[in-house]
Amino acid sequence: MRIAICASEVVPFAKTGGLADVAGALPLALELLDQEVIIIMPRYKTIQEPKFSVQRLKPDISYAVIGKNTKVYFIEKDLYFNRDGLYGDKTGDYPDNLDRFSYYSKRTLDLLKEINFAPDIIHCHDWQSALIPVYLKTLYKNNPFYKNIKTILTIHNIGYQGLFSKEEFPKLGLDWSLFNIEGLEFYGKINILKGGIEFCDIINTVSPTYSQEIQTKEFGFGLEGVLNKRRETVFGILNGLDYSIWNPETDKFIIKNYSLKNIEGKYQNKEELRRICQLPLKKGVPVFGIVSRLAEQKGFDILTDAIVKICKMNLELIILGTGDLKYHVLLENIAKKYPKVISLHLKFDDPLAHKIYAGSDIFLMPPKYEPCGLGQMISMAYGTIPLVFKTGGLADTVTSNNGFVFDKYKKEDLIKTIDKIIKAFKDKKKWLQLMQRAMQNNFSWKESAKKYLALYEKAKANEAATYVTK
Ligand code: ADP
Repeated sequence: MRIAICASEVVPFAKTGGLADVAGALPLALELLDQEVIIIMPRYKTIQEPKFSVQRLKPDISYAVIGKNTKVYFIEKDLYFNRDGLYGDKTGDYPDNLDRFSYYSKRTLDLLKEINFAPDIIHCHDWQSALIPVYLKTLYKNNPFYKNIKTILTIHNIGYQGLFSKEEFPKLGLDWSLFNIEGLEFYGKINILKGGIEFCDIINTVSPTYSQEIQTKEFGFGLEGVLNKRRETVFGILNGLDYSIWNPETDKFIIKNYSLKNIEGKYQNKEELRRICQLPLKKGVPVFGIVSRLAEQKGFDILTDAIVKICKMNLELIILGTGDLKYHVLLENIAKKYPKVISLHLKFDDPLAHKIYAGSDIFLMPPKYEPCGLGQMISMAYGTIPLVFKTGGLADTVTSNNGFVFDKYKKEDLIKTIDKIIKAFKDKKKWLQLMQRAMQNNFSWKESAKKYLALYEKAKANEAATYVTK
């Protein structure tokens, strides 16, 4: 099958979040399944030689190759993309984001024809490429080249929708008749993601549970009705984990490599972690680790509410993260008060993250909502038991068989679960079995790619357009 992956960020070229991981890993997994895949993304300032080997194709198009032979096409336009940030800077979102990503979407469709790559599927990701299905079924609908292309839109986090004021609508080049409740209008504003949802053939999210949750008022951020209307075409596929990066057997950042068969090495990592975090080397005390953005979505509201109680329990807590200033201040104050319990690292530090995944006993991850989540999958690969709130991808990956799950988003429930874990940790034999079960999980990209392929087949088989323009 011929597939064009369209994403605004792709590992290793540009990354702000999980979207880039998916857009970088999925094409390579599809290539290994013998599919013909290309990627199209904007060329940002950071995508330069010699860091990347980039070839020129046209005055405004260049490309690089990843995997065996997967081409990544870069759309160049200095005015829009030659900037430090992807979507904004310290002061907030760039004010011309609508111009930037509508340009990217149209140029992507034109490019497909110019390189004569007629895909079976265009796979779009998040609002930044969600205009592609809209354009395909409006401005490009009478062009025979595009006739048989089907589109899939993957929503990585429905909290980000691409909202713009109505006054900007003419810039999209679309007929005003599309600015209505059945189209791109959302409470008097333009909602790009909503446009994509209305016009694509299949909608997908990054876990089965999240695909259901976003159809509810609690998690839908106002788009639950639109999604519910199309519920037969809403699916969820769990992201895979890149085991070439996250593997305790080969990890270069940890002091002692270990594996399921040779788990003792993990304890050396625990001692080393406590040493670098300047925590007391008390025997038998469980170490809880956190690696996360410091944001309310990630559970820091209930966690900071509960933290004084947590600090009085028989545990040690290592926190690595950056994010909302509010949580920086709160955590700094509490870490000063309990220096023998909390080790706080307010930064982004990949090597330290690896050491925390390897050296902790428990990985604490209580997000309020989590489309997929990587931390719980990584920690399991390292035999570090996840403690999660039952939501989204966390509900799909963590069970009482490989971790601890609480299902009421309340600080009391979080505290109760921590207490339960401290008790369970005392039974060394049972804990070891739990670690072994966690390490046996396999969230490989190969399995996820096979599911995507089945979804592409489904979209391809559906000859009828799901949206008929008036
Ligand atoms: P999200 O993409 O919503 O932030 P995920 O759980 O999907 O959450 O992915 C987060 C990824 O970023 C994980 O690989 C995690 O290890 C990493 N990460 C988050 N914060 C930090 C940090 N401060 N230092 C190093 N790595 C971090």
